[in-house]
Amino acid sequence: MSGKAHRKLAGKIVIATHNPGKLREMRELLEPYGISAVSAGELNLPEPDETGTTFIENALIKARASATASSLPAFADDSGLCVDALDGDPGIYSARWAKEAGDFAKAMALVDRKMRECGATASTQRRGHFVSALALVWPDGHEETFEAKVFGEIVWPPRGERGFGYDPFFLPDGYDRTFGEMDSQEKHGIPADGSQALSHRARAFQMLARACLSD
Ligand code: IMP
Repeated sequence: MSGKAHRKLAGKIVIATHNPGKLREMRELLEPYGISAVSAGELNLPEPDETGTTFIENALIKARASATASSLPAFADDSGLCVDALDGDPGIYSARWAKEAGDFAKAMALVDRKMRECGATASTQRRGHFVSALALVWPDGHEETFEAKVFGEIVWPPRGERGFGYDPFFLPDGYDRTFGEMDSQEKHGIPADGSQALSHRARAFQMLARACLSD
């Protein structure tokens, strides 16, 4: 998080994504706060290369590019799965691993195979976490960043048809169902009583909302 005082977000913003699924999810999160959002894709803004070495850096690269090109405050996210036995891989390369493997089923099989090659077969050796980094960047250069994680176990075989990406082989701590076996409200919902949400993305959004959004 930046060292400066938090700035409240209001009015119209640009969501720095060309991914329709992410856009829908982000719009839903922002709508209750009276924020209207146009996307970088809808504005035909160029997609910057994600050359950062951390989730926060990549979120900032995307938000800075959209804020500069649109002269609107910009909101971006970067996320991924970090596996302890693989020294944090696939991490910031989570989407790339899936693209190169062919699909997420193959990417999960690759992660599992690499874990077994490292001897990570017992559940205590199969720890991992999802990370979500969110960045807000204003055209005058003010920046806010937030990062949250959810910890759990990488299980094999994958379980459940719900969710997306690496959800079916991630078992969050304290639950007996994988993200792939949960409905979206259970995984991504923001609890009305102010308690902590479950997913990394929802947790990061709770941090952002407390700092930068007004009810
Ligand atoms: P990016 O944030 O678009 O760079 O890509 C993040 C990638 O991480 C996604 O394509 C998924 O592979 C993975 N990922 C991030 N969050 C989740 C999640 O909640 N469930 C499953 N996979 C996720």
